[in-house]
Amino acid sequence: MTKEQVLKKYFGYDAFRTGQEVLIDSILEGRDALGIMPTGAGKSLCYQVPALMLPGITLVISPLISLMKDQVGALNQAGISAAFLNSSLTPGQYAKALRLAGEGKYPIIYVAPERLATAAFLDFARSVEISMVAVDEAHCVSQWGQDFRPSYLKIVDFIESLPKRPVVSAFTATATKEVRDDIMDILMLREPTVLTSGFDRPNLFFGVETPKDKYAAVKAYLDAHPGASGIIYCLTRRHVEEVCSRLQDDGIPATRYHAGLRDEERRKNQEDFIFDRSPVMVATNAFGMGIDKSNVRFVLHYSMPKDMESYYQEAGRAGRDGEPAECILFYGGQDVITNQLFIENNQDNRELDAVTREIIKERDRERLRKMTFYCFTNECLRDYILRYFGEYGANYCGNCGNCLTQFETVDVTETARALTGCVESCRQRYGTNVILDTLRGANTAKIRNYRMDENPYYGCEAKTPVYQLRQILNYLLLQEYLTVTNDEYAVVKLTAKSRGLLDGEEELVMKMAREPEKSEGKKSGRKLKKSKTAGIVLSDEEQAQFETLRSLRMAIAKEEQVPPYVVFSDKTLTHMCRMQPTTKAEMLSVPGVGEFKFQKYGERFLKEIRSEGNKEELE
Ligand code: ADP
Ligand code: MG
Ligand code: ZN
Repeated sequence: MTKEQVLKKYFGYDAFRTGQEVLIDSILEGRDALGIMPTGAGKSLCYQVPALMLPGITLVISPLISLMKDQVGALNQAGISAAFLNSSLTPGQYAKALRLAGEGKYPIIYVAPERLATAAFLDFARSVEISMVAVDEAHCVSQWGQDFRPSYLKIVDFIESLPKRPVVSAFTATATKEVRDDIMDILMLREPTVLTSGFDRPNLFFGVETPKDKYAAVKAYLDAHPGASGIIYCLTRRHVEEVCSRLQDDGIPATRYHAGLRDEERRKNQEDFIFDRSPVMVATNAFGMGIDKSNVRFVLHYSMPKDMESYYQEAGRAGRDGEPAECILFYGGQDVITNQLFIENNQDNRELDAVTREIIKERDRERLRKMTFYCFTNECLRDYILRYFGEYGANYCGNCGNCLTQFETVDVTETARALTGCVESCRQRYGTNVILDTLRGANTAKIRNYRMDENPYYGCEAKTPVYQLRQILNYLLLQEYLTVTNDEYAVVKLTAKSRGLLDGEEELVMKMAREPEKSEGKKSGRKLKKSKTAGIVLSDEEQAQFETLRSLRMAIAKEEQVPPYVVFSDKTLTHMCRMQPTTKAEMLSVPGVGEFKFQKYGERFLKEIRSEGNKEELE
């Protein structure tokens, strides 16, 4: 089978996503691979697909028992025999699993890092052919990250102890350079193919609200999205308790999670959420790692978290299935004070000396400031996030609270023409700063040296604020009306598109941030309604059918004792509603429906869809 066939047959998808293919090809060629992709990008497929094509066994090392259980459950549902080996098995179960593994029953085996050094496991591993070791959540090897796991350091010893070195692949969503270098060094990857995919999550809507009554705002949101699954993050346990019990009193199927609860209750509540028995989870940041639930439709922040890293990680748990989902932060002034107190009273670094402690505190304060700016910026929120993580956004995304209210369409033809004209008249010799300084009529030595004060465009845009000039210039570069040379001088040059502007044939409009004064005060008055644009766009009938299919999925999930999204994702159900498949072939063309799943449930869903169709014809 080709990798495309594997993708279709077992996972039901037609195409790989950006990046997946590169990593899979590398692995199949026997070359190590490191995939750095945001949450929800589809890292698992990068090792699962080759695992089904390689001759021997693939060992997947994963840090959390819950993660392994979920993933193995999902693979079994797709008709792939896989197993996990961790401390949740009784000695009898463990021995049995190991025996079956030795007989070659499982092409994919998930294993906890602690197991790698045990005699029984080593005996097994040395007696079979291991084609690949895939390290999931690979940032756990790094002490720089928040999730350092000492047992991850044993991985490399294990690999070295094998008779033949397998391909090693590693995956993480953590992008910082320190962590990336650690992964490559500590796992001793050999000339790996490194793939970093962009951190943008286009299906996520970002919004900030400043409601007077946060609870009322949350409640209104939930009322507007009945049945949808989501997480509400609070800063403190007290808030979790408060919000959760009020929601329950108001008839919302909510559950709670924080580190103060007993293990037993935490486990139960988490399961209730995963199985959609309580689709709304109210939690502190203790909740989330290892939650692979793909149909989380919203993540609300009842309070502002301590930094952008935390925010993006928590918000990123929404929409893993790639369908539209919403991330809304409810800001209040008290949030800053609470976070400041956390920083000042942080006991985590007690063992450090006073100077280092102060440095860390200052770093945390700076991160908090950046987080607070996010709540106040009038710019595109997505752009703000991406720039924070060192990527360039497009300045206007059209799918965030600010783009939908704080931006206006502006005719910038005249300024664009002046910028392009200036580049032409100085014979394409200078960089962006000289061009901008010329237009705004700066009286600097450099401008005089270059004689740009004699340029016909000198001072012609003196009234336009410089940040706007820069925005327009960036837009021209982005749209390739101009370009810059790729050397240290970064000289601005004309392009094939410049002529249209210069000759006055073309007009140019762009989205620009409204001036701050104009939009101030609007913030607190903004309505939740606008964010609906990012919800799943289904007609009323389709929505009704979605609910029917969702109930069917729930019934099957109960029979099979798996989480509902393991049966079919929200995305797959949405597509069924849109595509209205009535035959097996049509059903197989729905994304997420593979042959095996079709055999298991295809007919039941077809029947449901056909019966709906008949109803309509009768009416
Ligand atoms: P990650 O580990 O990167 O956070 P997952 O591997 O859990 O992400 O995948 C997230 C979701 O994306 C899953 O529901 C998965 O089935 C889906 N997915 C992965 N690859 C594809 C693809 N090529 N086409 C469609 N959906 C995909
Ligand atoms: Mg993953
Ligand atoms: Zn935006």
